[in-house]
Amino acid sequence: MRIGILGGGQLARMLALAGHPLGLQCVFLESAPEACAAPVGRLVTGAFKAEAALADFAAAIDVVTTELEHVPLAALEYLAQRRPLLPGSRAIALAQDRLLEKDLFRRLQLPTAHCVAVDTLEELVCAMAETGLPAVLKTRHMGYDGKGQVVLRETADAAAAWRAVGGVPCLLEAMVPFDREVSVIAVRSREGECRFWPLTENRHRNGILSVSRALLQDPLQMLAEDYCRRLLEALDYVGVLALELFQVGDSLLANEYAPRVHNSGHWTIEGAVTSQFENHLRAVAGLPLGATDARGAAAMINFVGQVPERRELLAVAGAHLHLYGKRPAHGRKLGHATLCAVSSALLEQGVRTVLQLTQYREKESALD
Ligand code: AMP
Repeated sequence: MRIGILGGGQLARMLALAGHPLGLQCVFLESAPEACAAPVGRLVTGAFKAEAALADFAAAIDVVTTELEHVPLAALEYLAQRRPLLPGSRAIALAQDRLLEKDLFRRLQLPTAHCVAVDTLEELVCAMAETGLPAVLKTRHMGYDGKGQVVLRETADAAAAWRAVGGVPCLLEAMVPFDREVSVIAVRSREGECRFWPLTENRHRNGILSVSRALLQDPLQMLAEDYCRRLLEALDYVGVLALELFQVGDSLLANEYAPRVHNSGHWTIEGAVTSQFENHLRAVAGLPLGATDARGAAAMINFVGQVPERRELLAVAGAHLHLYGKRPAHGRKLGHATLCAVSSALLEQGVRTVLQLTQYREKESALD
Protein backbone atom coordinates (compact mmCIF):
# COMPACT_ATOMS: atom_id res chain seq x y z
CA MET A 1 0.00 0.00 0.00
CA ARG A 2 1.25 3.50 -0.87
CA ILE A 3 0.69 6.16 1.79
CA GLY A 4 0.78 9.76 0.58
CA ILE A 5 2.05 12.27 3.14
CA LEU A 6 1.58 16.02 2.78
CA GLY A 7 4.99 17.38 3.76
CA GLY A 8 8.46 15.89 3.73
CA GLY A 9 9.90 16.94 7.09
CA GLN A 10 11.08 14.86 10.04
CA LEU A 11 7.58 13.64 10.92
CA ALA A 12 7.14 12.30 7.37
CA ARG A 13 10.60 10.74 7.59
CA MET A 14 9.79 8.93 10.86
CA LEU A 15 6.43 7.78 9.46
CA ALA A 16 8.20 6.29 6.42
CA LEU A 17 10.78 4.57 8.63
CA ALA A 18 7.96 3.01 10.68
CA GLY A 19 6.09 1.96 7.54
CA HIS A 20 9.00 0.19 5.89
CA PRO A 21 8.90 -3.06 7.94
CA LEU A 22 5.10 -3.20 7.49
CA GLY A 23 5.45 -3.09 3.71
CA LEU A 24 3.92 0.40 3.54
CA GLN A 25 5.66 2.78 1.12
CA CYS A 26 5.47 6.50 1.74
CA VAL A 27 5.24 9.16 -0.96
CA PHE A 28 5.78 12.79 0.09
CA LEU A 29 4.40 15.95 -1.50
CA GLU A 30 6.88 18.67 -0.65
CA SER A 31 8.23 21.78 -2.37
CA ALA A 32 11.84 21.44 -1.13
CA PRO A 33 13.80 18.88 -3.20
CA GLU A 34 16.27 18.45 -0.29
CA ALA A 35 13.42 17.51 2.10
CA CYS A 36 14.71 15.35 4.95
CA ALA A 37 12.16 12.59 4.24
CA ALA A 38 13.38 12.21 0.64
CA PRO A 39 16.00 9.48 1.35
CA VAL A 40 13.41 7.15 2.91
CA GLY A 41 10.55 7.32 0.41
CA ARG A 42 9.44 8.77 -2.89
CA LEU A 43 9.31 12.54 -3.23
CA VAL A 44 6.86 14.35 -5.48
CA THR A 45 8.29 17.87 -5.67
CA GLY A 46 5.77 20.67 -5.88
CA ALA A 47 3.76 23.26 -4.00
CA PHE A 48 0.42 22.39 -2.35
CA LYS A 49 -1.13 24.99 -4.65
CA ALA A 50 0.22 23.43 -7.88
CA GLU A 51 -2.52 21.32 -9.45
CA ALA A 52 -0.08 19.34 -11.61
CA ALA A 53 1.89 18.31 -8.50
CA LEU A 54 -1.33 17.38 -6.67
CA ALA A 55 -2.40 15.28 -9.65
CA ASP A 56 0.98 13.46 -9.80
CA PHE A 57 0.84 12.89 -6.06
CA ALA A 58 -2.74 11.54 -6.15
CA ALA A 59 -1.80 9.17 -8.97
CA ALA A 60 1.11 7.75 -6.93
CA ILE A 61 -0.78 6.90 -3.72
CA ASP A 62 -3.66 4.83 -2.32
CA VAL A 63 -4.47 6.94 0.73
CA VAL A 64 -3.35 10.38 1.92
CA THR A 65 -2.43 11.79 5.31
CA THR A 66 -0.50 14.80 6.57
CA GLU A 67 2.49 15.71 8.71
CA LEU A 68 1.37 19.37 8.82
CA GLU A 69 -1.81 21.20 9.70
CA HIS A 70 -1.09 24.25 7.54
CA VAL A 71 -2.14 22.79 4.20
CA PRO A 72 -4.38 24.95 1.96
CA LEU A 73 -7.99 23.80 2.10
CA ALA A 74 -8.20 23.68 -1.70
CA ALA A 75 -5.40 21.07 -1.75
CA LEU A 76 -7.17 19.01 0.92
CA GLU A 77 -10.44 19.14 -1.03
CA TYR A 78 -8.72 18.24 -4.30
CA LEU A 79 -7.06 15.19 -2.76
CA ALA A 80 -10.10 14.13 -0.72
CA GLN A 81 -12.10 13.86 -3.95
CA ARG A 82 -9.55 11.43 -5.37
CA ARG A 83 -8.22 9.39 -2.44
CA PRO A 84 -9.27 8.72 1.17
CA LEU A 85 -7.88 11.66 3.22
CA LEU A 86 -7.22 10.55 6.81
CA PRO A 87 -7.70 12.41 9.07
CA GLY A 88 -10.43 14.26 7.15
CA SER A 89 -10.23 17.85 5.95
CA ARG A 90 -12.50 19.17 8.77
CA ALA A 91 -10.10 17.93 11.47
CA ILE A 92 -7.18 19.58 9.66
CA ALA A 93 -9.04 22.82 8.83
CA LEU A 94 -10.23 23.43 12.40
CA ALA A 95 -6.66 23.05 13.70
CA GLN A 96 -5.57 25.84 11.31
CA ASP A 97 -7.68 28.43 13.08
CA ARG A 98 -7.29 28.96 16.83
CA LEU A 99 -10.77 30.54 17.08
CA LEU A 100 -12.59 27.61 15.42
CA GLU A 101 -10.48 25.21 17.46
CA LYS A 102 -11.40 26.91 20.76
CA ASP A 103 -15.09 27.03 19.69
CA LEU A 104 -14.95 23.28 19.12
CA PHE A 105 -13.39 22.73 22.56
CA ARG A 106 -16.15 24.79 24.14
CA ARG A 107 -18.88 22.91 22.25
CA LEU A 108 -17.41 19.64 23.52
CA GLN A 109 -17.23 21.11 27.05
CA LEU A 110 -13.47 20.89 27.25
CA PRO A 111 -12.31 23.63 29.64
CA THR A 112 -10.04 26.26 28.05
CA ALA A 113 -8.37 29.52 29.05
CA HIS A 114 -10.78 32.45 28.88
CA CYS A 115 -10.34 33.87 25.37
CA VAL A 116 -11.83 36.53 23.09
CA ALA A 117 -11.61 37.00 19.30
CA VAL A 118 -9.88 40.23 18.32
CA ASP A 119 -9.89 41.82 14.84
CA THR A 120 -8.81 45.42 15.59
CA LEU A 121 -6.69 47.33 18.11
CA GLU A 122 -9.90 48.75 19.65
CA GLU A 123 -11.24 45.22 20.14
CA LEU A 124 -7.93 44.21 21.69
CA VAL A 125 -8.24 46.98 24.29
CA CYS A 126 -11.79 45.85 25.16
CA ALA A 127 -10.73 42.18 25.22
CA MET A 128 -7.99 42.94 27.77
CA ALA A 129 -10.65 44.11 30.19
CA GLU A 130 -12.46 40.77 29.70
CA THR A 131 -9.53 38.38 30.02
CA GLY A 132 -7.58 40.38 32.57
CA LEU A 133 -3.78 40.70 32.46
CA PRO A 134 -1.36 39.15 31.83
CA ALA A 135 -2.76 37.70 28.62
CA VAL A 136 -1.41 36.16 25.43
CA LEU A 137 -2.26 37.59 22.01
CA LYS A 138 -2.13 34.82 19.40
CA THR A 139 -2.67 35.03 15.66
CA ARG A 140 -5.63 32.86 14.61
CA HIS A 141 -3.62 31.33 11.77
CA MET A 142 -0.09 30.00 11.25
CA GLY A 143 1.06 29.96 14.87
CA TYR A 144 3.50 27.25 15.98
CA ASP A 145 6.43 26.86 18.41
CA GLY A 146 5.38 30.11 20.12
CA LYS A 147 5.46 32.09 16.83
CA GLY A 148 2.68 34.62 16.24
CA GLN A 149 2.32 35.21 19.99
CA VAL A 150 2.88 38.19 22.26
CA VAL A 151 2.43 38.41 26.03
CA LEU A 152 0.63 41.52 27.29
CA ARG A 153 1.40 42.55 30.84
CA GLU A 154 -0.18 46.02 31.03
CA THR A 155 -2.79 48.01 29.10
CA ALA A 156 -0.06 50.18 27.58
CA ASP A 157 1.33 47.07 25.76
CA ALA A 158 -1.72 46.86 23.45
CA ALA A 159 -0.54 48.97 20.50
CA ALA A 160 2.96 47.43 20.37
CA ALA A 161 1.53 43.90 20.63
CA TRP A 162 -0.97 44.61 17.87
CA ARG A 163 1.88 45.85 15.63
CA ALA A 164 4.05 42.85 16.57
CA VAL A 165 1.42 40.36 15.34
CA GLY A 166 0.95 42.38 12.14
CA GLY A 167 -2.62 43.50 12.84
CA VAL A 168 -4.13 40.18 11.68
CA PRO A 169 -7.16 38.40 13.21
CA CYS A 170 -6.18 37.15 16.66
CA LEU A 171 -7.35 35.56 19.86
CA LEU A 172 -6.59 37.11 23.24
CA GLU A 173 -6.19 34.44 25.90
CA ALA A 174 -5.94 34.86 29.65
CA MET A 175 -2.52 33.71 30.81
CA VAL A 176 -2.93 30.36 32.55
CA PRO A 177 -0.87 29.96 35.74
CA PHE A 178 -0.28 26.31 34.89
CA ASP A 179 1.58 23.82 37.10
CA ARG A 180 2.79 21.98 34.05
CA GLU A 181 2.10 21.39 30.38
CA VAL A 182 1.02 17.92 29.29
CA SER A 183 -0.18 16.31 26.10
CA VAL A 184 -2.17 13.22 25.38
CA ILE A 185 -1.39 11.37 22.17
CA ALA A 186 -4.19 9.20 20.86
CA VAL A 187 -4.92 7.06 17.85
CA ARG A 188 -8.31 6.19 16.38
CA SER A 189 -8.84 3.45 13.83
CA ARG A 190 -11.14 3.49 10.80
CA GLU A 191 -13.60 1.42 12.87
CA GLY A 192 -13.60 3.99 15.69
CA GLU A 193 -11.37 2.17 18.20
CA CYS A 194 -9.42 4.68 20.34
CA ARG A 195 -6.14 4.05 22.12
CA PHE A 196 -4.09 6.46 24.22
CA TRP A 197 -0.43 6.57 25.17
CA PRO A 198 0.46 7.59 28.72
CA LEU A 199 0.22 11.34 29.30
CA THR A 200 3.40 13.23 28.49
CA GLU A 201 4.82 16.19 30.42
CA ASN A 202 6.39 18.80 28.16
CA ARG A 203 9.04 21.39 28.99
CA HIS A 204 9.83 24.15 26.50
CA ARG A 205 12.89 26.31 25.92
CA ASN A 206 12.63 29.52 23.88
CA GLY A 207 9.10 28.48 22.86
CA ILE A 208 10.27 25.14 21.41
CA LEU A 209 9.68 21.74 22.99
CA SER A 210 12.84 20.69 24.81
CA VAL A 211 12.08 17.64 26.99
CA SER A 212 9.07 15.31 27.12
CA ARG A 213 8.60 12.70 29.81
CA ALA A 214 6.05 9.88 29.78
CA LEU A 215 3.91 10.09 32.95
CA LEU A 216 3.23 6.53 33.96
CA GLN A 217 -0.06 6.05 35.85
CA ASP A 218 -0.72 9.77 36.22
CA PRO A 219 -3.94 10.56 38.14
CA LEU A 220 -5.05 12.84 35.27
CA GLN A 221 -4.73 10.15 32.58
CA MET A 222 -8.46 9.28 32.54
CA LEU A 223 -9.56 12.92 32.40
CA ALA A 224 -7.17 13.64 29.51
CA GLU A 225 -8.41 10.54 27.68
CA ASP A 226 -12.02 11.59 28.21
CA TYR A 227 -11.36 15.05 26.69
CA CYS A 228 -9.37 13.60 23.83
CA ARG A 229 -11.98 10.93 23.05
CA ARG A 230 -14.68 13.64 22.75
CA LEU A 231 -12.50 15.38 20.18
CA LEU A 232 -11.68 12.21 18.23
CA GLU A 233 -15.33 11.22 18.05
CA ALA A 234 -16.64 14.68 17.17
CA LEU A 235 -14.16 14.85 14.29
CA ASP A 236 -14.74 11.21 13.25
CA TYR A 237 -10.97 11.17 13.34
CA VAL A 238 -8.69 8.51 11.87
CA GLY A 239 -4.99 8.41 12.78
CA VAL A 240 -2.88 9.95 15.54
CA LEU A 241 -3.92 13.20 17.22
CA ALA A 242 -2.15 15.15 19.97
CA LEU A 243 -4.10 17.26 22.46
CA GLU A 244 -1.99 19.81 24.34
CA LEU A 245 -3.25 20.72 27.81
CA PHE A 246 -2.37 22.97 30.73
CA GLN A 247 -2.55 21.32 34.14
CA VAL A 248 -3.76 23.63 36.93
CA GLY A 249 -4.10 21.71 40.20
CA ASP A 250 -6.12 18.65 39.32
CA SER A 251 -7.85 20.20 36.32
CA LEU A 252 -6.83 20.29 32.66
CA LEU A 253 -7.41 23.13 30.17
CA ALA A 254 -7.28 22.35 26.45
CA ASN A 255 -4.79 24.58 24.62
CA GLU A 256 -4.64 23.17 21.10
CA TYR A 257 -4.64 19.95 19.11
CA ALA A 258 -2.43 18.74 16.29
CA PRO A 259 -4.11 16.54 13.64
CA ARG A 260 -0.95 14.48 13.16
CA VAL A 261 1.91 12.74 14.91
CA HIS A 262 3.50 15.11 17.41
CA ASN A 263 6.92 15.99 18.79
CA SER A 264 5.77 15.14 22.32
CA GLY A 265 5.08 11.58 21.14
CA HIS A 266 8.58 10.85 19.85
CA TRP A 267 9.45 8.96 23.04
CA THR A 268 7.04 6.24 21.87
CA ILE A 269 9.54 5.05 19.21
CA GLU A 270 11.52 3.00 21.71
CA GLY A 271 9.51 3.80 24.85
CA ALA A 272 6.15 2.24 23.93
CA VAL A 273 5.03 -1.13 22.62
CA THR A 274 3.86 0.55 19.39
CA SER A 275 5.10 4.00 18.35
CA GLN A 276 2.84 6.89 17.37
CA PHE A 277 4.30 6.62 13.84
CA GLU A 278 3.48 2.95 13.39
CA ASN A 279 0.00 3.32 14.85
CA HIS A 280 -0.76 6.33 12.65
CA LEU A 281 0.10 4.25 9.59
CA ARG A 282 -1.83 1.25 10.90
CA ALA A 283 -4.90 3.49 11.36
CA VAL A 284 -4.79 5.15 7.94
CA ALA A 285 -4.01 1.84 6.21
CA GLY A 286 -7.03 0.20 7.92
CA LEU A 287 -4.85 -2.25 9.89
CA PRO A 288 -5.37 -3.31 13.54
CA LEU A 289 -3.91 -0.87 16.09
CA GLY A 290 -0.92 -1.84 18.24
CA ALA A 291 -0.71 -1.60 22.05
CA THR A 292 0.12 1.87 23.37
CA ASP A 293 1.57 0.85 26.77
CA ALA A 294 4.92 2.28 27.84
CA ARG A 295 7.72 -0.26 28.17
CA GLY A 296 9.08 1.54 31.25
CA ALA A 297 10.22 5.04 32.14
CA ALA A 298 10.83 7.06 28.95
CA ALA A 299 11.72 10.57 27.87
CA MET A 300 12.63 12.52 24.74
CA ILE A 301 15.14 15.33 24.40
CA ASN A 302 15.04 17.54 21.32
CA PHE A 303 18.19 18.69 19.57
CA VAL A 304 17.51 22.22 18.37
CA GLY A 305 20.22 24.01 16.37
CA GLN A 306 22.92 21.62 17.66
CA VAL A 307 23.40 17.88 17.99
CA PRO A 308 25.59 16.35 20.70
CA GLU A 309 28.55 14.21 19.71
CA ARG A 310 27.13 10.87 18.50
CA ARG A 311 29.71 8.74 20.35
CA GLU A 312 29.03 10.51 23.66
CA LEU A 313 25.26 10.40 23.26
CA LEU A 314 25.19 6.70 22.49
CA ALA A 315 27.38 6.01 25.53
CA VAL A 316 24.50 7.15 27.78
CA ALA A 317 22.66 4.08 29.11
CA GLY A 318 19.24 3.69 27.48
CA ALA A 319 19.79 6.48 24.91
CA HIS A 320 18.69 6.13 21.28
CA LEU A 321 19.60 8.69 18.66
CA HIS A 322 17.33 9.93 15.87
CA LEU A 323 18.89 12.35 13.43
CA TYR A 324 16.73 13.97 10.79
CA GLY A 325 19.45 14.57 8.19
CA LYS A 326 18.90 18.33 8.17
CA ARG A 327 21.45 21.09 7.71
CA PRO A 328 22.10 22.73 11.12
CA ALA A 329 20.53 26.16 11.58
CA HIS A 330 19.63 28.23 14.60
CA GLY A 331 16.28 27.14 16.07
CA ARG A 332 15.91 24.17 13.70
CA LYS A 333 14.91 20.76 15.08
CA LEU A 334 17.76 18.50 13.93
CA GLY A 335 17.05 15.32 15.85
CA HIS A 336 16.14 13.91 19.22
CA ALA A 337 17.18 11.27 21.72
CA THR A 338 14.79 8.81 23.27
CA LEU A 339 15.78 7.62 26.73
CA CYS A 340 14.42 4.44 28.27
CA ALA A 341 15.12 3.22 31.81
CA VAL A 342 13.81 0.74 34.35
CA SER A 343 13.16 3.45 36.95
CA SER A 344 12.39 7.16 36.92
CA ALA A 345 15.55 7.83 38.97
CA LEU A 346 17.73 6.22 36.27
CA LEU A 347 15.76 8.05 33.60
CA GLU A 348 16.42 11.41 35.25
CA GLN A 349 20.11 10.62 35.45
CA GLY A 350 20.11 9.96 31.69
CA VAL A 351 18.11 13.13 30.94
CA ARG A 352 20.60 15.21 32.95
CA THR A 353 23.56 13.70 31.09
CA VAL A 354 22.02 14.24 27.65
CA LEU A 355 21.09 17.82 28.50
CA GLN A 356 24.67 18.45 29.64
CA LEU A 357 26.00 17.06 26.35
CA THR A 358 23.56 19.24 24.40
CA GLN A 359 24.38 22.40 26.34
CA TYR A 360 28.12 21.71 26.00
CA ARG A 361 27.71 21.62 22.19
CA GLU A 362 25.67 24.84 22.32
CA LYS A 363 28.43 26.64 24.25
CA GLU A 364 31.13 25.29 21.93
CA SER A 365 29.32 26.47 18.82
CA ALA A 366 28.74 29.91 20.35
CA LEU A 367 32.55 30.23 20.58
CA ASP A 368 33.12 29.18 16.93
P1 AMP B 1 0.75 27.42 21.64
O1 AMP B 1 1.30 27.84 20.31
O2 AMP B 1 -0.66 27.83 21.88
O3 AMP B 1 0.97 25.94 21.89
O4 AMP B 1 1.64 28.15 22.74
C1 AMP B 1 3.04 27.93 22.87
C2 AMP B 1 3.42 27.96 24.34
O5 AMP B 1 3.11 29.25 24.90
C3 AMP B 1 2.64 26.96 25.18
O6 AMP B 1 3.25 25.69 25.13
C4 AMP B 1 2.75 27.62 26.56
O7 AMP B 1 4.03 27.38 27.14
C5 AMP B 1 2.64 29.08 26.24
N1 AMP B 1 1.23 29.52 26.30
C6 AMP B 1 0.36 29.58 25.27
N2 AMP B 1 -0.85 30.01 25.65
C7 AMP B 1 -0.76 30.23 26.98
C8 AMP B 1 -1.68 30.68 27.98
N3 AMP B 1 -2.95 31.02 27.67
N4 AMP B 1 -1.23 30.78 29.26
C9 AMP B 1 0.04 30.45 29.57
N5 AMP B 1 0.96 30.03 28.68
C10 AMP B 1 0.57 29.92 27.40
